[in-house]
Amino acid sequence: MVLARPQTHFSIVLDHLPRQVGSKGEEALTVKDEFDVLIVGAGPAGLTTASSLARAGFHVGVLEEHVEIGNPVNCSGILGVEAFGRFDLSSRLIRHSLDSVEFVSPRGLRWEFRTDKPLAHVVDRGEFDAELGVAARKAGATVLLEHRVTDIRTVFGGVAVTASEGSDLEPRTLTSRVVVVATGAGMPLLSKLGFNDIPAKLLGVQAELDLPASQVEVYFGHKWAPEGFAWIVPLGRRRSKVGLLCRRDGPRVLERFLSRPDIAERIDINGPATEIRTSVLPLGFLSKSYADRVVVVGEAAGHLKPTTCGGIYYGMLTGEIAADVIASGLEQDRLDSASLGAYETRWRDLLQDEIETGLKLRRSFKLMSDWGIERLMSLARHEGIASMIREKANFDWHRGLIDAVLQNTTVGRILGAA
Ligand SMILES: Cc1cc2nc3c(=O)[nH]c(=O)nc-3n(C[C@H](O)[C@H](O)[C@H](O)COP(=O)(O)OP(=O)(O)OC[C@H]3O[C@@H](n4cnc5c(N)ncnc54)[C@H](O)[C@@H]3O)c2cc1C
Repeated sequence: MVLARPQTHFSIVLDHLPRQVGSKGEEALTVKDEFDVLIVGAGPAGLTTASSLARAGFHVGVLEEHVEIGNPVNCSGILGVEAFGRFDLSSRLIRHSLDSVEFVSPRGLRWEFRTDKPLAHVVDRGEFDAELGVAARKAGATVLLEHRVTDIRTVFGGVAVTASEGSDLEPRTLTSRVVVVATGAGMPLLSKLGFNDIPAKLLGVQAELDLPASQVEVYFGHKWAPEGFAWIVPLGRRRSKVGLLCRRDGPRVLERFLSRPDIAERIDINGPATEIRTSVLPLGFLSKSYADRVVVVGEAAGHLKPTTCGGIYYGMLTGEIAADVIASGLEQDRLDSASLGAYETRWRDLLQDEIETGLKLRRSFKLMSDWGIERLMSLARHEGIASMIREKANFDWHRGLIDAVLQNTTVGRILGAA
């Protein structure tokens, strides 16, 4: 729960020269664009943080480089049912619900997995982010579009954030007492601020085309899906999103998948296809996600499921934790690194074991041969294991299922042999 906003005042003092986070300067500067909190990035993590803090009465600004929220996005839009309850998300956003998935083995054998209740919903990701933007504005946040942040410096009593506005306007400097970096992965701002990089990364590659499908399909096999799996997510009206995870050559690897005979024959080549989009996805999290007056949330901090690379919900959860800790810091005027460290303690309590278990599974899976994957999938079809999967499967929390499956000696042997 975030605290109510106190009547606090602070004066911003800018450094003479750009400095690393945590350094202090002397030169006073009069500024108009003062906020309690500036948030860089209007994705799910940034907008959740913004709504929470604005609802508590703080003066919040969100800086987004694009012309509109939710465009462009590169996402399949699958969100677990838990997120809808947890964040009171409107059911209007749901395009359809997932109560079955068809898994396709490296040899092309198909296995349909059904659950009694939907585990997840599919949303239009652009619409979803736009709706979060409306909520943040309603709560009182100021959203500044076409503001690409190029520099963040801590200054005495606050943070100075420089953004280039529109295409040819002069850079603008805004100030706040604390800044939240919610830029998604692969953005250069964090290294400028002195944060370590997350070295392991994947590429998420996807296109939207005319390919009729009645349920989500997940494909395994090193040739087609070198980093785990490829997917088809139906959007309705014969359209689908088709994507996969890989390390390099994203468009080429996706084109190879699309040329599979059982996929190619289903594509209507006369239908419109979007360009192939490629995005960086972090595997692992920042060793430290806060500094003096700075907090990093969502995918920028590595808050996503390493198994599926789903990051919307984890980003919203860490955005909410950040808002809570920042609200206390603003209340008490304690926004130094030591005080903001509570953010990291709390998100690690919630996510660290999940992320580490997912990374471990991903490493074993990566080493497994197609034969091993084939064996695992045929085991999963046996009623004993299938019912255990049904019982333990949770769209957002995978550790329970991974631990249970690994305790099965045959599965353990296959993974151990990898
Ligand atoms: C192909 C693919 C499919 C995916 N499918 C799913 C899925 O089905 N379900 C799921 O949960 N996750 C999925 N993900 C992951 C999910 O998209 C991300 O984890 C999620 O968007 C992270 O949210 P975020 O708010 O942290 O960052 P983002 O959503 O990336 O938002 C960051 C925002 O910051 C802005 N920004 C960046 N730098 C600057 C700057 N310097 N100045 C101003 N603004 C800036 C960006 O324009 C962007 O709007 C998928 C990812 C890929 C690549």
